[in-house]
Amino acid sequence: MTPTAAFRFDNSYARELPGFYAACRPAPAPEPRLLFVNHALAQALGLDADALDGPAGAALFAGKALPEGAQPIAQAYAGHQFGGFSPQLGDGRALLIGEILDRQGQRRDIAFKGSGRTPYSRGGDGKAAVGPMLREVLIGEAMHALGIPTTRALAVAATGEPVYRDRVLPGAVLTRVAASHLRVGTFQYFAARDDAARLRQLRDYAIARHDPALADAPQPVLALLDAVAQRQARLIAQWMNVGFIHGVMNTDNMTISGETIDYGPCAFMEAFDPDTVFSSIDHQGRYAYGNQPRIAQWNLARLAEALLPLLVPEGRAEDEAAVERAVADATAVIETFPTRFDTALRAGQRAKLGLHARPATPDDAPPAKNEDPATVLADDWLALLQRQQVDHTLAWRHLADAAAGDETPLRALFADPAALQPWLARWRALCAAEAPMPATERAAALRAANPRIIPRNHRVEEALAAASDHGDLGPFERLLAALQQPFADDPALARYAEPAPREITERYRTFCGT
Ligand code: AMP
Ligand code: MG
Repeated sequence: MTPTAAFRFDNSYARELPGFYAACRPAPAPEPRLLFVNHALAQALGLDADALDGPAGAALFAGKALPEGAQPIAQAYAGHQFGGFSPQLGDGRALLIGEILDRQGQRRDIAFKGSGRTPYSRGGDGKAAVGPMLREVLIGEAMHALGIPTTRALAVAATGEPVYRDRVLPGAVLTRVAASHLRVGTFQYFAARDDAARLRQLRDYAIARHDPALADAPQPVLALLDAVAQRQARLIAQWMNVGFIHGVMNTDNMTISGETIDYGPCAFMEAFDPDTVFSSIDHQGRYAYGNQPRIAQWNLARLAEALLPLLVPEGRAEDEAAVERAVADATAVIETFPTRFDTALRAGQRAKLGLHARPATPDDAPPAKNEDPATVLADDWLALLQRQQVDHTLAWRHLADAAAGDETPLRALFADPAALQPWLARWRALCAAEAPMPATERAAALRAANPRIIPRNHRVEEALAAASDHGDLGPFERLLAALQQPFADDPALARYAEPAPREITERYRTFCGT
């Protein structure tokens, strides 16, 4: 089978939502060369994975030979970037080429990133470079292996064309797979234009695609807002529990599906510190690790604002009481966010501590902070890590060794291990009281909840430099293989588990839109 025949497209967005996008062809790539194909993902998508390799696959994934049935479009969206509203962003260097149903029957977007200028490119060149696109592969696959909802990379092809940044870089196109590319910013685009008709169309499309059960809810729009808030609360809690810092949580980078999207300036935290920021453009620390829950809630409030015209019953837009009621309803949903986030965060922390899930309470509200010993224990643990600048990932991971009877690796992470002892005693006591189990069983549970391997910034940079500067994909491939088994104890992967030297982390900066 030729790759161009491998996709069975069914392009609902292009078909159902005229006026929501601009049709646009990918730029011709002079010399396509495949750098990466995700065979496991291709299989899950029901594609003939082997047919995607070779020169035909290279031409396909560089945007040179579009597969049959593809209908490339640049999607319109707006967005709050660092708090300021841009009414027109849109796919400036991306194209949705079509949708397919995967083996589970789930609809998936197949999209290019870096495939050239579109009507939404503004001053940009529409291009992407090899390094950042391979970075998106590494972080996305790491997130997936960690069990965190994410868009995923299907392929990266070098274009054979230079891309001009602060220096000349090899160009590349990433093929990205997503549950959809609907964003908070997609709703904002039509709300900003007072286009109630299209806003309604978008509501129907989003509900049909992501929450079909809500179509019959008494207030479907409110239910949609609620569902997005719930997905985001869970997502951000997962980010926090692995030390992930997105870096650019603009409303155009927050999905309706609840998948993590746009791995630009993101990075994983090393020593625990809620103020950690890596992005070179985030001068105020708006998107610092510890701010992420608050920012997610802020973004959801922007979604609520965009949905407001649909929350007021039709024909009642001038009725003050009706508008007030709609605002109150939406506000009530937004105000649930901190509790939902906390519930998800605490559930994750319980697993990370080796405790059983807390039995559900009728209203599913977490117990007051100082009433739940696991919460107090987790907070004290993080405070201890912060005070002694301990590596977040390894500290959690070495709890497994401590559970198995060897405290040495954990103690070695602390400058003053004596301060750890009282906490360890409390932890052991709580484990014994709440979740008694044999030591080996607890150690195994802890190893399944606390990853050993995350994308360490120095390893990511090393792999990208080899690929981008020297055309050597070896380090990238080896790092990717390690990231795909984050919970493994394989001694051969030890170099990927080690933190970066502190001097490197202190100087580490990530870049946006690169
Ligand atoms: P991001 O912060 O990467 O999600 O991008 C924000 C906006 O800038 C989106 O509308 C992108 O399409 C656009 N953009 C980023 N890089 C480029 C580029 N090189 N050329 C054109 N548009 C771009
Ligand atoms: Mg974006």
